[in-house]
Amino acid sequence: PPALEAVVPLLMGRSKLNGCGRYARGEMIWNPCVKNSEMDLSAIRVIYCALQSFHESHDPRAMAEKLTPMMRQYRRIKSEIAEDVILMFRLGDFYEMFFEDAARAAPILNVALTKRAGYPMCGIPYHAVDSYLGKLIRAGRKIAICDQMEDPALAKGIVRREVTRIITPGTITEEAALSDDRNNYIAAIASSGKEFGLAALELSTGELFVENHPTRDSLRDAIHRIAPGEGIAPTSEGESEPDREAAAIYKDAGVACVTPVDYWFFEEAFARSTLLSHFGVTSLDGFGCEDNSTAIRAAGAIMQHVRENLRRDLSHVTSMRLAQTSGYMTLDDATCEHLDLMPQRGRDPSTTLYGVLNATRTPMGARLMHNWIARPLLDLDAINSRHEAVETLTKARGALSPLRSLLGDIRDLERTIARISLSRGSPRDVNAISTALKTIPAIRDRLEPVASGALLGSILRELRPLPHLVDAIDRTLVESPPATMNEGGMIRPGVSHELDELRDAAANGRAWIAKYQAEEIARTGIKTLKVKFNKVFGYFIEISTGQLGNVPADYARKQTIANGERFTTPELKEREEKILGAADRAIIMENDIFDSLRAEVVRETAGIQAVASAAAQLDVLCSLADRALALGYERPKMDEGDAIHIIGGRHPIIEQLPDSERFVPNDADLNCTTRQIMVITGPNMAGKSTYIRQVALLVVMAQMGSFIPAKEASFGIVDRVFTRVGASDDLARGRSTFMVEMQETANILNNATPRSLIVLDEIGRGTSTFDGISIAWAVAEHLHNTPSVKAKTLFATHYHELTDLALTLGGVVNCSVLVREQHDGIVFLRRIVDGPADKSYGIAVAKLAGMPDPVLRRAREILANLEADELSDSGTPSLVEPRAKPRPVRHGDDLQMKLFEM
Ligand code: ADP
Ligand code: MG
Repeated sequence: PPALEAVVPLLMGRSKLNGCGRYARGEMIWNPCVKNSEMDLSAIRVIYCALQSFHESHDPRAMAEKLTPMMRQYRRIKSEIAEDVILMFRLGDFYEMFFEDAARAAPILNVALTKRAGYPMCGIPYHAVDSYLGKLIRAGRKIAICDQMEDPALAKGIVRREVTRIITPGTITEEAALSDDRNNYIAAIASSGKEFGLAALELSTGELFVENHPTRDSLRDAIHRIAPGEGIAPTSEGESEPDREAAAIYKDAGVACVTPVDYWFFEEAFARSTLLSHFGVTSLDGFGCEDNSTAIRAAGAIMQHVRENLRRDLSHVTSMRLAQTSGYMTLDDATCEHLDLMPQRGRDPSTTLYGVLNATRTPMGARLMHNWIARPLLDLDAINSRHEAVETLTKARGALSPLRSLLGDIRDLERTIARISLSRGSPRDVNAISTALKTIPAIRDRLEPVASGALLGSILRELRPLPHLVDAIDRTLVESPPATMNEGGMIRPGVSHELDELRDAAANGRAWIAKYQAEEIARTGIKTLKVKFNKVFGYFIEISTGQLGNVPADYARKQTIANGERFTTPELKEREEKILGAADRAIIMENDIFDSLRAEVVRETAGIQAVASAAAQLDVLCSLADRALALGYERPKMDEGDAIHIIGGRHPIIEQLPDSERFVPNDADLNCTTRQIMVITGPNMAGKSTYIRQVALLVVMAQMGSFIPAKEASFGIVDRVFTRVGASDDLARGRSTFMVEMQETANILNNATPRSLIVLDEIGRGTSTFDGISIAWAVAEHLHNTPSVKAKTLFATHYHELTDLALTLGGVVNCSVLVREQHDGIVFLRRIVDGPADKSYGIAVAKLAGMPDPVLRRAREILANLEADELSDSGTPSLVEPRAKPRPVRHGDDLQMKLFEM
């Protein structure tokens, strides 16, 4: 690094020393002239700190306000971080917040807002900081932790303090604040104008991956799927607002927290050098990203931002994965929601596919289960090997349940090793690594005899028990070590001779004190004499007021208290130094030993991560096997064809709902030629929506590797599932407009392929009946007649008119849900049969709903009139004659709409 004297004048000449705004967030450092020079960052930081303390002691504003030196330090540190970040300032055993921050945080933390020298403040004990952080993060706040960088007892003047880390919704790693079964990512996006790059970092596990997306929509869907806690977006040059387009994409994808980051973090050259130096490589080929400029820009920006702006350690991020978006079935966010794949905030998780399938025993298994559901596979072999593994496990009944309970003992190995490599791992964390690794041999014993097939074989290979590490941990740490360092008691006796001696000295010291107290009582005759200890005065002799006359001459007075006085003696003083010295040195030694043990664990990070990942996969497979056995699922057959064939299929979620009627199984038969479009009619409440979702759900389950609730099934690979639900069924999502419905339908028509599966539920309902029918009809024709689309389609509709599609299009078949008409109404049979429903039964449903009789009678009359001229004179549906004469508007349409929506 260049000499300080050489650079300071340079910086002084160039930057505005009196404006602390110029210092804020390190802007001065990045003055272009400095950026291009040869200096490295750490040298610049040293200079920066020097300038800051200079500034601190000369700040005219602070001097005018007569702030104490400590509050001036507070002001300076506060000015360096972004406005919206709450500063937690370490003062003794507390983290204190002042001014605005105190007023904002106190109600969230539920602590008292007090005043100190006239300004508001509040505080929390430092050891409980984790649980408080969670509260602030959940309230959408960001927090800077400012620690004391030197021992207050040794500091000359004000204790040096620095912001050691900044915690944001996307980067919180405190266990108490994370949910076990969800990943918490921070994401970045970059655009080249032609395509998008997405990078996501999970700080609590060290996972970093990148993806490429050809369109804004697919980017949005991907962000929605990984649901990051926070997204970063570049600012334009000289601005502080995030890029508008990026912010809009995050907003669309439901990301609440968007953080602006300097634009040049996203510049390719800078981002590339960030990644090259972090991973210590000369090219990004090893990650498959050398020429992937958008991915590099996004990943580089995240890493730089988290390390430099948030000051977080990234040493546990050991690789970068290029996620193949092409290897997975595309599920847009509307489809994920319509099919209830994943729990949504505030909804009952058990009524989702995840809720039904997840019986994992570890948090990392639960997180992986999310991923598998959100990303069904496209590769036939890969799908088959998951099915094969699940089948093996269901057949190895004797092994399944012991395997699952052993897996439970591994706990969150993935996040534990991440915490340890962040140097924040506690003695308990290190112990947990040993506990987890010790279960591996037992797991291998159970798995080895049954493991067949590629997937279980590779899992078995990855499950390495690392016995040398287990041994090192067990030899060093006591059986149940304390949760924190610094208090001693974590290292076993016998590990270090020197440590044992120090401990003896400290313990003997305490025995000596007891003996000394007895001797002094005997010598002075004061029965109440006590030798006590406190942190401020060390050891002292306490004598109550009544006995002061008997104090011997060699006692030196130390302090007066309410009911007596405290004394010391030269002997006691000497002993105190020995005892305290030994105890202190013992703790320092314990910490040193622990640090080197932790370093040993860190060296094995990659190996432990591999074990964690294999265990997570095994956990998911065991969960799928367990569910398959418990819920009567069967293995689907996968093939190269284009057909979907299901016998006795059931809806996995609805069949599990408590107190619902017995679920009636149904078949399905679709292909790209003779049965391409299935038009399903039947009265409202008959079971149309349930049936079409059920088919899509079974496809998703099969391709994610699960068994399915069906007697028998075979599937050709589906590349994408689209769902579109008519506007009035979609109110829950708060986007009921017809426009949105049409946009999404357009998206389907533009993107579907002959390998796709389309589920259309009552489309066209958001407009008038005639409009709706016309659009629905034209959509069906397009899907049927356009060779590049020709996707298998399930089309549920209450527009009875659409059954006429089959008259003109060869690949369309009519199906309906059976109902039995009874004297005073209808009974739902829930069976899907070929052939159209003979009427729409809207009026029958209206009757069930309690509509008054006169209204029902009148409705029947109007319906009869409407149905009178359904076919033209030539016998084709008059509806679709190309140049239909304009018909007079019929007031009955509106009435019909309303009846159906009861
Ligand atoms: P539609 O879309 O025809 O109006 P839904 O699919 O919404 O009807 O189903 C109406 C009700 O019938 C739902 O409460 C659902 O749980 C129940 N249901 C649907 N299909 C079945 C089935 N096969 N077996 C049992 N109950 C079913
Ligand atoms: Mg419906």
